[in-house]
Amino acid sequence: MDISKYKIDHNSDLKLSGIKTDQTGQFDSKEDAEKKLVENVQRMTEIQSKLYAQDKYAVLIIFQAMDTAGKDGAIKHVMSGLNPQGTHVHSFKQPSVEELDHDYLWRATKNLPERGLIGIFNRSYYEDVLVVRVHDLIKNQQIPDEFITENIWKDRFRQIRDYERYLFENGIVTIKFFLHISKETQKERLLDRIDDKAKNWKFSAADLTERQYWDDYQRYYQDAINETSTKQAPWYVIPADKKWFARLMISEVIVKTMESLNLEYPTISKQQEEVLKGCKQKLMESKS
Ligand code: AMP
Ligand code: MG
Repeated sequence: MDISKYKIDHNSDLKLSGIKTDQTGQFDSKEDAEKKLVENVQRMTEIQSKLYAQDKYAVLIIFQAMDTAGKDGAIKHVMSGLNPQGTHVHSFKQPSVEELDHDYLWRATKNLPERGLIGIFNRSYYEDVLVVRVHDLIKNQQIPDEFITENIWKDRFRQIRDYERYLFENGIVTIKFFLHISKETQKERLLDRIDDKAKNWKFSAADLTERQYWDDYQRYYQDAINETSTKQAPWYVIPADKKWFARLMISEVIVKTMESLNLEYPTISKQQEEVLKGCKQKLMESKS
């Protein structure tokens, strides 16, 4: 599978409206894609064991999307086979009073995965160049006036690029997904959440308000993705009208990215080997 099709280059002049949201690549059926997803989950589990044992790299996976695009479902399905001890999921909500009393990357740093772990961000600091931009919430962020200029978003994009580069150079590898759906698909899924009693809990009237800002969100997503897709921390725009295709592509990107790292089980030195032999001898000689 060719994941490079969905990978965005830095300053590539991405046009989200030019990417079809209902693509399914070479797959015509959900069944084939689901089989392949099971294989990928298995591969991911094996690579995760090495990541954990080696204890040097961490992998940070960021999910961003419009409401109903399938972030929660993708996280659940794609991560289903992983060892829970080796993963850490964090959801970014409206910032608390404590969080607003800090710089906007503080809460991200607090929730970064430890070495050996896969960390998942359900939303992220990208909200600080998305919802904050759409609703002009920057004034709530207690930033000194002299830093709130017309360049603030360019400044933030640079800060984010620098931050992700810093993470990369410290062994934390960031993968970023934008799940791309059409406005029509969102309408269908919102209606479904109203009509299906079992899904009522997922519906929030606030989602309808946000829907009115669809075009602003698309524009700012496009800007953020163009500006912050880098070699060290690329964005992938995943067509997500078909959930089964999105989940498969996400798993493929994660597997390929992790396979490109130098992940190996740690080997032991001659001296440690001798210690192990000594321990074995003692155990064999012990009575019970
Ligand atoms: P949900 O993901 O449905 O639980 O919703 C979380 C909400 O928190 C979304 O509406 C986000 O836009 C909002 N949110 C996340 N981060 C921020 C932020 N930095 N500033 C304002 N709202 C945020
Ligand atoms: Mg929601």
